[in-house]
Amino acid sequence: MRRFYEIFLVLLMVLTLTACGASTAAPDSSGPSKPQTSDAEELPETPESEPPEERPYIISDPAIAPESGEKDGVPYVAYDGVVEHLFFHPVVAYPELAFDGDYMANGIDDWMVTAEEYLKILQSVYANGYILVDIADCWSEVPTDSGEVRMVKNTLYLPEGKKPLILSFDDVNYYEYMLENGFTHKLILGEDGKVWSWGLDPQGNAVVSRDLDAITILDQFVEEHPDFSPFGAKGCLSLTGYAGILGYRTNTDRDDASAAFEANRQKEIAAVKPIVAELKRTGWTFGSHTWAHIRLDSKSIDGVKSDMMKWMDEVGSLVGETHVLFYPYGGRLDGDDVKQTGPAFQWMQQQGFRIFCSVGIDSWSKCKSDISAVICDRLHPDGTTLRSSKSRERYLRFYDAKDIIDLNVRPQREVGWLGE
Ligand SMILES: [Zn+2]
Repeated sequence: MRRFYEIFLVLLMVLTLTACGASTAAPDSSGPSKPQTSDAEELPETPESEPPEERPYIISDPAIAPESGEKDGVPYVAYDGVVEHLFFHPVVAYPELAFDGDYMANGIDDWMVTAEEYLKILQSVYANGYILVDIADCWSEVPTDSGEVRMVKNTLYLPEGKKPLILSFDDVNYYEYMLENGFTHKLILGEDGKVWSWGLDPQGNAVVSRDLDAITILDQFVEEHPDFSPFGAKGCLSLTGYAGILGYRTNTDRDDASAAFEANRQKEIAAVKPIVAELKRTGWTFGSHTWAHIRLDSKSIDGVKSDMMKWMDEVGSLVGETHVLFYPYGGRLDGDDVKQTGPAFQWMQQQGFRIFCSVGIDSWSKCKSDISAVICDRLHPDGTTLRSSKSRERYLRFYDAKDIIDLNVRPQREVGWLGE
């Protein structure tokens, strides 16, 4: 087990270099990409042009039991078991662009799923009795006898028979390499007030859709299956800052101090604000993935501090306070040590972070004993786990990889369970 895990981490380190876009876009080397404009006139009209209307959206706390023990006629019961946690990267909208044999194709195959595969995964976890909860609702900070505070796992009150599931989404930034490889380009607000994606199809035509992006697909799924999210939770978006957020170039560029760059940046900031507000209103939350997608397990503490100050300045200022830190490359700040906490981890905790997420082979979590913080792992539905025989078994409680993976569009690479 341990050995598998170490191999896995090494693989993750090597391979997410491409999957997470840092190798081509690390600000320390090349600087962020040039800003893109987001002029409204470039955007085609959203297909449905219903007038904006009040769309009430109710978010409630699963750690508070319903007074009568039931809600809408459904009994709610206490749950103290494992809270599963799956994370996704942006999903592939156009497999023919993603899997075109270029140097990115295998990395995308390893670390992403297609929009169709993603929808099938949602359908399967729903059918298997999972319901969405927000990561921030799963733990609370409480005082101890000695007057300090520590994180504790909350008892959740769930509809009888249901199991809690956290979803998180890394790198929802719409990096330059994604725009060229079959991903959507940005989130926008439609005339109906809902979040849509904007992008280009393989022929270069502008496409506004709710079927091509992980966020809008989940929004639609919850609209169609409200019992998948009885508390209104969606997912936690893990954002870097070096290429802006949500497809808007809100980032600074140390190589471009021009007035034109700054004017565009301010325009992008103004454009993204209502999208952030609508996402938050409809159950989405935000976490930090560092500004420059840095390795927190090896970067110097000064480097960690200056990166996070920049994230707070450029991203935190737009998405608001967050307690959740998602480690780039899964690189753990505390080296997996539950009992010892190093200076960089302590500093991050002082900045307000309480939930520190890595990647692993199950939804493990642990409240640290020496500091108020939770460390946890997430599972990763993607090409590596869809193709692996061992992972297929491990993920069977959520879905069967055989029913999910689309071998017609993915590269012809090994599939461990074929023939089993
Ligand atoms: Zn990442």
